[in-house]
Amino acid sequence: MRLAFRPNALRNVEEKIVLKRITCSSSAGRTRTALQSLCSAFAISSWPTCAVLCIALGFCSTILAQTPAPAAAHSATAARHPSNAQLADPKIEARVDKLLRQMTLDEKIGQLVQYNDTGDAASTDGAKPGAIAAVNPEPTNPVNAMQLAAAGGVGSMLNTVGKDRTNLYQHLAVEKSRLHIPLLFGADVIHGFRTVYPIPLGLAASFDPDLVVNLGHISAEEATTAGVRWFYSPMVDISRDARWGRTAEGAGEDAYLGAAMARAYIRGYQGDDLSKPGAVAASVKHFAGYGAAEAGREYFTTDMSESRLRQVYLPPYKAAVEAGAATIMSAFNALNGVPASANPFLLGEVLRKEWGFNGFVVSDYTAVMELTNHGIALDPATATRKAITAGVDVDMMSHFYDTQLPRLIRSGQVPMSVIDEAVRRVLRVKFATGLFEHPYAEAPEVTSAVAEHRPLVRKAAEESFVLLQNEKSASGSPLLPLSPAFKRVALIGPLSENPAEMVGAWGGAGNEKDIVTVRAGLEERAQKLGGTLVYAKGTEIDGASQSGFAEAVDAAKASDVAVLALGESGMMSGEAGSRAFLDLPGNQQQLLEAVAATGKPVVLLVFSGRPLVLNWASKHVAAIMEVWFPGTEAGHAIADVLYGDVSPSGKLPMSFPRAVGQEPLYYNQFPTGRPPLGLDLSKPPGGDSRFFSRYIDVANDALFPFGHGLTYSTFTYSDVMVSKASIPLSQALGNRTSAILQATATVSNTGSREATEVVQCYVGNRGASMEQPVRSLEGFRRITLKPGESQQVSFDLGFNELSFYNNESKSTIEATKYTVWMGGSSLADKEAAFEVVPSNARSEAR
Ligand code: BGC
Repeated sequence: MRLAFRPNALRNVEEKIVLKRITCSSSAGRTRTALQSLCSAFAISSWPTCAVLCIALGFCSTILAQTPAPAAAHSATAARHPSNAQLADPKIEARVDKLLRQMTLDEKIGQLVQYNDTGDAASTDGAKPGAIAAVNPEPTNPVNAMQLAAAGGVGSMLNTVGKDRTNLYQHLAVEKSRLHIPLLFGADVIHGFRTVYPIPLGLAASFDPDLVVNLGHISAEEATTAGVRWFYSPMVDISRDARWGRTAEGAGEDAYLGAAMARAYIRGYQGDDLSKPGAVAASVKHFAGYGAAEAGREYFTTDMSESRLRQVYLPPYKAAVEAGAATIMSAFNALNGVPASANPFLLGEVLRKEWGFNGFVVSDYTAVMELTNHGIALDPATATRKAITAGVDVDMMSHFYDTQLPRLIRSGQVPMSVIDEAVRRVLRVKFATGLFEHPYAEAPEVTSAVAEHRPLVRKAAEESFVLLQNEKSASGSPLLPLSPAFKRVALIGPLSENPAEMVGAWGGAGNEKDIVTVRAGLEERAQKLGGTLVYAKGTEIDGASQSGFAEAVDAAKASDVAVLALGESGMMSGEAGSRAFLDLPGNQQQLLEAVAATGKPVVLLVFSGRPLVLNWASKHVAAIMEVWFPGTEAGHAIADVLYGDVSPSGKLPMSFPRAVGQEPLYYNQFPTGRPPLGLDLSKPPGGDSRFFSRYIDVANDALFPFGHGLTYSTFTYSDVMVSKASIPLSQALGNRTSAILQATATVSNTGSREATEVVQCYVGNRGASMEQPVRSLEGFRRITLKPGESQQVSFDLGFNELSFYNNESKSTIEATKYTVWMGGSSLADKEAAFEVVPSNARSEAR
């Protein structure tokens, strides 16, 4: 229910009733608060507007005395805690107001419409000039984006890149359109633009947010030279189901890690000033719950309790908004029966009212149109009305806002105030990004991988690798790092020499020729060491022919060690990349078995955008390293780690299952009433072991759990302690901003090499009014120790770390017993305990 700025726009009884219920108070402060909540109830944009309206309605005369200077923020809630201080700049707001007053209805609607690159001849190969690959179906809209740009009929463009191309469109918008409003060019720059770094799931494995900040910054620097000022990134959807292909694009299964990564991307992309050259606006996606798609099937329904939504799926969004994200993308999926792109609860209540988000929301690709497929709209007009009134400001590609809004507004079905507010949000971001001052790409365009960015991208790949297993070889030491005595190395597998497959499903605008393949990286290394690399492809990624097996087996036989580069193709994960089987695709498993049968030591490099089922390999292969899709420097990074120049330090951001049937599989499960404690779950049940929460054919736990990752040294944990044994509940509840207690452990490098450990702190509590996860990650830190060195590592635990969402969806702490575990994975077993005790046993007894 929205209200136009003019009081006479009150159009229905419910609105009038709400107004009548609000009474003026004699206290100035309370008056203002009451009126602000009234205005906020109707999404009235600014305090002055609210005040004017209330005076016009005769509600209160004391209000005049309280009217402040022009408001800095845009809604009552935003005024209290704007998500992005820069967007809340009064100077920007004044410019927005001025421009908005000059705009016709068509011009306003134009700002809410987004198209891709159309309007002149396609290049000879059929590709759109200046467009980077999008994964969506080719739109059938009869739209000429060039004409629209010149007429002010489009506000932003997607996946249109390149200095010439964006400047051509920008010229039309800035020079030809009546109000000269520049276009905002957005693109799917997910993990690098020209210099490509590992997929986000791989970056999450680094547990290194600072690294992500730096990477975000270089991709923004590169992309802005090609005119792109807005990234459809980060994807912060939590995913606990490896079948879902988009796990590749996010930070995995954990909310705490996801939130840390979300913040890092925003800082990296947006910097501290959106208008600085080299900064881009982020679009945090896909709001919300998309990663919980049932059965891991892409675009499918999500349905969950509000406490789970708030506890698990929303924290990374909230973190991104708090970090100042300029825009949000609404998701394709329905959440609890309401499609996310027409969901007033998500977009209005949570995002804008609770979090004070003051940027704009763009729909996902044709998501407004898809509301008709969801069945909540029978026609385009209803879909449009539902989307825009729920809070979707910009329509990506549906061709609905431009065709439907004029009629909906004229007929009063969509109030003008809703349009004004949406346009206001878009213009706010355009002013904040400095587009009006610098609409054109000016710096020399970066058209290939940047030499100065390669070292960072290489380091990122190295940090992303997770050494899953490293058994002893014949020499008695772990197989990795490769011994210098291995003079002949066989490299086998379809991912060995495949540059296009090193970048995953979203390779930005990277060029294949810039990519260092595994073969190139290992050949370079072999030459340096005076050794030989013998290469055999063996099979295709998804092949059935075994014609290459013999050559592969021979290569292994003739070598000291076989390195197999196996796994998925990039497009097997990412959007629309759901899989029902999580094995090595095609006949790669048979190839692996054939090579292992030679008896030569085998190193398996797994390329994938998700956890795979690696049971056989875990029993028969000495060393397994998950390398995700490492990006431009793939081959160099793999050589650095295989040969031990760098010790691996990645830890799993998702649990690797033993069987697809365990999915969704995640470490922070809830307890059950029948935990199968102490039973050998790997054996089928018999006798009284049956009636427990277990499978009859597979163990419950992960093959490789969340947080797991080995290195070339060993770490031990001791002296795990907490700084307080008991905390009064009132004290825990009264302190929302600083630490309530500290958890500490001593970490020692007990091996013989310098190495980096990701120290992890898990917290669990029992005795609350609602079930709590058995444990949850509430802190992590990367530390590097020399052999024999020890370090004390402490984590602050405050309200955020100790609270949970209760049945009323309120974040709270109750008087319960807590356990803290510290260690190198989610199986950490060194613990300490404390209690939150009722401050007054009578009033707080449960
Ligand atoms: C994807 C988004 C992407 C958009 C634009 C959609 O299909 O879900 O993640 O940003 O297309 O390419």
